[in-house]
Amino acid sequence: MRYDKVLKFLLFAFVVGSVLGLVGGLTLGGSRTHASPSTKTAAGKADTTTSTAADEETAEPMTAEKARAIGANEMGMIPVLEYHKITKPEDQTAPEPDYCRSALHFKQDIELLMSEGYYPITVKDLATGTIDIPAGKSPVVLTFDDSSPGQYRVLDDGTIDPESAVGILQAASRDGRWPLKACFYVLLDVNPPDNILFGQPDLQQEKMRNLVKWGCEVGSHTYTHLNFQKSTEEVIRKELALSKQKIESLVGDDYEVYTICVPFGEYPDDISILQSGEYDGVSYTYGAALEVTGGPSPSPFSSKFNPMRIPRIEVQHDALKQAIDNLKKNPDLRYISDGDPAVISVPATLSEKLGTLKEKLGRPVITY
Ligand SMILES: [Zn+2]
Repeated sequence: MRYDKVLKFLLFAFVVGSVLGLVGGLTLGGSRTHASPSTKTAAGKADTTTSTAADEETAEPMTAEKARAIGANEMGMIPVLEYHKITKPEDQTAPEPDYCRSALHFKQDIELLMSEGYYPITVKDLATGTIDIPAGKSPVVLTFDDSSPGQYRVLDDGTIDPESAVGILQAASRDGRWPLKACFYVLLDVNPPDNILFGQPDLQQEKMRNLVKWGCEVGSHTYTHLNFQKSTEEVIRKELALSKQKIESLVGDDYEVYTICVPFGEYPDDISILQSGEYDGVSYTYGAALEVTGGPSPSPFSSKFNPMRIPRIEVQHDALKQAIDNLKKNPDLRYISDGDPAVISVPATLSEKLGTLKEKLGRPVITY
């Protein structure tokens, strides 16, 4: 019986492993992860048997020695940065008003993040634990609320304003060190109308499509910047369902909105209404929800991580520098990637502040 099962599993693992290897050139860790829905015992046996074949066609597997050399800590914290308006240099007044970041300061923020070893991911990447960044780098999430024009402005000659957030991110991505990955939580029906999908009504759809094409996330911030604490359940469901539907129809190509950015950080009493529901025949689901404050986020692999309550850092004044300095002074709290998204690498001893490793992460964990 047992021998039979192992044989069956080996055959299954070989077939799945070969297909995955052909398709994606995945690492050994990746093949193992996907090919081992079976019991732990069987997966353990398969590991030793399939490693020779897989070694020949894929990169070397992650090891404790490698993870130690990199200083990987995938239980570390991840800053999720929150921006609102990006103002033109000539609009700057000193001191910078709240909810505004000058184009110059935003450029400096990106420079700082690059020089300190950060690398951008999306909220969906964070919430699903799909953190595919180079070894030794730390993930960071850039989020933009309220779709104001300074986030994405097209000039009269059709070019993207180099002083808008998207223009600055494009420039940063040009040398390949900084992928254009950011997250935009847009509004669909508000006053002033400039905050509807970045203003410029004729270009709304093109902008939404471009953002997704470039690798950005576009998510819901409700239709009207609704305060969930002051709304009926029906209105909440209406805005959750219709905003998601509207964004998805604008982007097209089967794009799926994943994240709801909670206006004012005012959560409804029952959070389950954010996760799934229905309004007038339109059903919705959200896999992640964003807070307004709270500091750096726990790792998605930590018991402390709740995808429906992802904390953020409001980038005002020197808040970003403080957050970065804080993680620099406390390196044991900082997420450092092992470079292999199919494996989770963590030091054997972790700060209590990071929580404990979640169970059932669906991939191998390497401790060192
Ligand atoms: Zn907002």
